[in-house]
Amino acid sequence: MSVAFISHSDCGRHDTGWNHPEHVGRLRAITRALRNNTELFDSVEQVEGRHATASELELAHDARYIASVEQISSAGGGQLDADTVASTGSWAAATAGAGCVLTAVDRAMQQPDARSFCAVRPPGHHALRSRAMGFCLFGNVAVAAHYALSAHGAERVLIVDWDVHHGNGTQALVEENPAIHFVSMHQWPWYPGTGAATDRGPHNTIWNVPMSAGLAAARYVDALESAVDAATTDFVPDIVLISAGFDSLAGDPLGGFTLEPEDIVGLTQRLVARAKVWCAGRVVSALEGGYAPDRLADGAMAHIGALR
Ligand SMILES: [Zn+2]
Repeated sequence: MSVAFISHSDCGRHDTGWNHPEHVGRLRAITRALRNNTELFDSVEQVEGRHATASELELAHDARYIASVEQISSAGGGQLDADTVASTGSWAAATAGAGCVLTAVDRAMQQPDARSFCAVRPPGHHALRSRAMGFCLFGNVAVAAHYALSAHGAERVLIVDWDVHHGNGTQALVEENPAIHFVSMHQWPWYPGTGAATDRGPHNTIWNVPMSAGLAAARYVDALESAVDAATTDFVPDIVLISAGFDSLAGDPLGGFTLEPEDIVGLTQRLVARAKVWCAGRVVSALEGGYAPDRLADGAMAHIGALR
């Protein structure tokens, strides 16, 4: 068993300003918490990820959109969407964010029982094929799913998204490919307004789990695990990707779910146990949301500990 903490210093170069909820302090809170947890720090391998190339991003995105993000960044930045900005460093950050998840896939596919947590930003699960959305520039996890299929010969990929918001971008970027099954649990009704349970995608390979805010934590855990079971009936994944959004923890300013770090531990442990049966324990997890930095850090430490 080998667990890696994968990040890239360029992820800090996506400058949204301190008044934006998705600010650089989120990652700093995670790295500080890991440094302060000696036992956890010593048990995980620290890995510097790489940058995704434009052709890798084209696995899920339109080439003209990719070029436009690079151009806007090199011209000093600008507004990409109502709540999504780019700065001079955003191209480097976004390609590093996606690249770290590709590094994690390489690692998972090259050795058994290898799991990784990618501490990356900007997040990815709202990004669409040809536009940024909801703080997200590129679909880090969606790109990684296509990459596992095309670069490593994986035949089936499972994505589990427990961010409090629907992973509409991920769904849009993977739903045409029946080799990828996508499970998203999210608050309903809530941003971005998509993710109805009846929306199964064109091949019935999408499991959306819309949930009310303020329920007992066990309700969310049970609902997500039931959906994972449904998504893996007659479908044994070769790798499991997690969109780990910690805005599903109680107290997040952008969500109303009630999960605690110990719920993240249980979810993670049971997904790892399933992954050991399905695919030699190959799990790649990537940070999505989480906007109360201390809670985000607590959730991430709980999650990393449970990946071991
Ligand atoms: Zn979110």
